[in-house]
Amino acid sequence: MAPEQIATPDRVGFEADVFSLGVSCFNMVTGELPWTSADADELVALKLRQDAPRPSSVVPGVSEEVDALCERLLSRDPRKRGVAPPKSGSLRCLACGKSLGSAPTRCPGCDLPFPPTRPRLEFTDGPAAGQVFLIPQAEFVTGRLQIAPESLNMSRRQMHVACSGSVMVRDLGAANPTRLDDGPLTFDAFLRPGDRLHVAGSTGRFLVGA
Ligand SMILES: [Zn+2]
Repeated sequence: MAPEQIATPDRVGFEADVFSLGVSCFNMVTGELPWTSADADELVALKLRQDAPRPSSVVPGVSEEVDALCERLLSRDPRKRGVAPPKSGSLRCLACGKSLGSAPTRCPGCDLPFPPTRPRLEFTDGPAAGQVFLIPQAEFVTGRLQIAPESLNMSRRQMHVACSGSVMVRDLGAANPTRLDDGPLTFDAFLRPGDRLHVAGSTGRFLVGA
């Protein structure tokens, strides 16, 4: 448990996970825990008041780099653990538009499953810029409401998507037609990783894998 989970339990962020990583790191290097006490209250007090020891003080010969890494990860001040926060709220479902947690296997909005290869569209510009849409395994119609509700030049029925692991898209006669880099999408076309899909003023790159 990170010190802030004891001191300010209502203000705990991802930094607490970084702290846990630091504890694991310290344990792998030294075979011990950074703070130990048979008494639970004393253990809490130690975490709040005392910096973690350097791994090299427990196991001589540990490098300065490992010492510095553990010191940073185990910093009692969450802000000093030095890891950028993950982008939040940017992952969404292409079928229903719902915001998703970090690694969903099924959409909490439409209940469709996401293939393990994580086929997705990462939008780089236009009203949907910065958002990543996971593509669930299903056939569905998607458009303005799911992708960019404020973007009036996108049709409600913008494109048809069929995903069975591989992904096929077709424009549905939208006012601003969906296009691939190499042409219109009048018929179903398979997306290949790296393809850029132009959706009424927003460009999404199709990606699969990690
Ligand atoms: Zn969904």
